[in-house]
Amino acid sequence: MDRCGSWDRLSDSHHLRVARIGEIKTYESTRKLYRHLDRGTGKIVAATVSEHSGKWRVSFTVEVARQVPVTRTPERVIGIDVGVVTLYTGASPEGEQVLEVANPRHFVTAEKRLAHAQRIASRRQGPKPGVAPSKRWKKSNCRVQKIHRDVRNARKNLIHETTTTLAKNYDVIVVEDLNIAGMVKNHSLAKHVSDAAWGEFARQLEYKTKWYGSALVRVDRFYPSSKTCSHCGTVKATLSLDDRVYHCGTCGLTLGRDANAAINLARQGLAGTSSGTGRGGEVRPAQQKLVATAHPDEASTETPTFVGA
Ligand SMILES: [Zn+2]
Repeated sequence: MDRCGSWDRLSDSHHLRVARIGEIKTYESTRKLYRHLDRGTGKIVAATVSEHSGKWRVSFTVEVARQVPVTRTPERVIGIDVGVVTLYTGASPEGEQVLEVANPRHFVTAEKRLAHAQRIASRRQGPKPGVAPSKRWKKSNCRVQKIHRDVRNARKNLIHETTTTLAKNYDVIVVEDLNIAGMVKNHSLAKHVSDAAWGEFARQLEYKTKWYGSALVRVDRFYPSSKTCSHCGTVKATLSLDDRVYHCGTCGLTLGRDANAAINLARQGLAGTSSGTGRGGEVRPAQQKLVATAHPDEASTETPTFVGA
């Protein structure tokens, strides 16, 4: 059932009033949205109630007057290397690793459960022309959809948490301009690339840096961030994807592959935004180690809110 109406409104941060149905308690808090409405800085343009594999959700289209902060001076710079084993590795231009987000491999672990659920569904009477699907098929299909949904949501959540933390805590965020289409063609990488949702990461950073007044710098994809030594600048001719540790034959540096790449990206980005503080200039030393914290209400206005428990 889909239904839209401009008279849907929030009674408080946990209750939604829908025309003809009445008041519904929301599972997720809508505090952020409610505050916007209360202050008059936001307006619900439309609300859509939908059902998907047994869960009801309502999504709001909202107009929010957002105060765009003044662009900050590039003091806190972070380079982000996006990887497969470690999802996001962040380092400062001074060569300190300040962020590490492990890849939870939601998809890989869920894959076994998914295969099992799909096998069960395939043995049952599914929808065919002229034949209605059986109740048992519907039930097993529901389970398949649920695993898909859980993976999708967990992945989305992690990307939101990471990008919000970055956009709020750093002035300049440097990422590699990845060739995602090309990487997905490489089948051994394909599954992990889509798992990590690299494109979504960059897309979120793009708009969140605007929200918080920080800047996103994309470094040319041909810049050899992984092959360059972050200590002496020597560029290796080859570096296999399996080499998890970077070892420099010239100066003897031994460093994690991702950390080395992240440092190079941070410096590259800093050189690109040389307004005021140049490379190695007056940059704030020793940044605090970031622990990706949850902001459950952060995305409440852009991701569907669950209703009912
Ligand atoms: Zn070196």
